[in-house]
Parts: sequence; C-alpha cells; structure tokens
Amino acid sequence: MSSDRAAARAPRLTLVQGDITEQAVDAVVNAANSSLLGGGGVDGAIHRRGGPDILAECRALRASHYGRGLPTGQAVATTAGRLPARWVIHTVGPVHSASEDRSDLLASCHRESLRVADELGARTVAFPAISTGVYGWPIEDAARIAVETVRAADTAVEEVRFVLFDERAYAAFAARME
Ligand code: ADP
Repeated sequence: MSSDRAAARAPRLTLVQGDITEQAVDAVVNAANSSLLGGGGVDGAIHRRGGPDILAECRALRASHYGRGLPTGQAVATTAGRLPARWVIHTVGPVHSASEDRSDLLASCHRESLRVADELGARTVAFPAISTGVYGWPIEDAARIAVETVRAADTAVEEVRFVLFDERAYAAFAARME
C-alpha cells in the first residue's frame, strides 16, 4: 500500500544539457558551499545571473540560522533574484573521498532539496550534478545516487529536471535513467 502511494507521488525525471541558470522552473538547486556566500561553478553562475538579492538573503540566513554555515547534506531556500526560477534551494554536497563512503550525504542533498521544495510548494525543480565539480565526485556514481534518490522520494514535486553542463555528465545521467 505504502509503495503504491510513493509511486503515485514520484516525480517525472527529465534531462537537459545546458545551463541551470536558464531554467524556467519553480526552483533551481544550487551546489553551494557551507558558507552560503558564493563560490565557483554552479554557485558562481547562480549569483552572477541572479543578482545581489540572493546573496543578501544568504547572508541573512547565516546571521539568523546558520552561524557556522549550512551543514553538508542539508538544504535551505532563498528567492531567485533575476533568474527565471522563483526560488533557489541551496544545498551543500559532500567532497568526494576515496577513503570514506559519503554517499548518504549526497543522497541527503537530493532528499532535503525536495523536502524544501515541498515546503515552498514548488512543482518543478532543476538539479545540477551536485558534488561533481570541484568536490570531485565521479560523474557515473553521482548520477546513480541522484537518480535513485529522486526516484525513491515521496514528494509533491511533479518534475525533476537534471541539468547537465557537459556531454559526459549528460551521458552519465541518460544511462542511469534508461
Ligand atoms: P560542487 O562544488 O558541488 O562539486 P560545482 O559547481 O563545482 O559543484 O560543479 C557541479 C557540477 O555542475 C559540475 O558537473 C559542473 O560541470 C556543473 N556546472 C557548472 N556550472 C553549471 C551551470 N551553470 N549549469 C549547470 N551545471 C553547471
């Protein structure tokens, strides 16, 4: 019975090769760092294109709730400034480690982002390939964790769109979604 209910609430998964800052979805997920004060990669692109309002909200979140930064695996939302999306959901991926299995934390980023999306009432959510840039996670393994976690999620989100920047990342997600 409960598995029927979960299946009924499972989001549709879609795949795009492109730039996450151009996605007209309710919420885009940011592969942030725990400072919430900006960085490179997706984070840099979101703040550059979204404008200063996002950073101002991130600073306020640091001051009010996350004095020591947003912990790895958690997620928090701000508005999306000038992006076509309504909200940015910031989540902190784990740095890949060869000596320690941090898969649970990467799965948690996806679960927690969808939980925040549900709180916002977002129905369409775009995810980048979290942790696969400077945090060094092998793309095939990141794709497996992302797709499995989103497929298993119990959420009112209707579409999860994975937005992959390059061909190799796109191919890894496409292979997983078959
Ligand atoms: P992390 O610190 O979690 O590794 P990065 O931002 O460095 O995050 O990279 C995560 C992934 O996002 C990488 O695969 C990178 O190629 C990709 N990426 C970088 N810029 C964008 C963008 N504008 N839109 C979508 N994906 C992007």
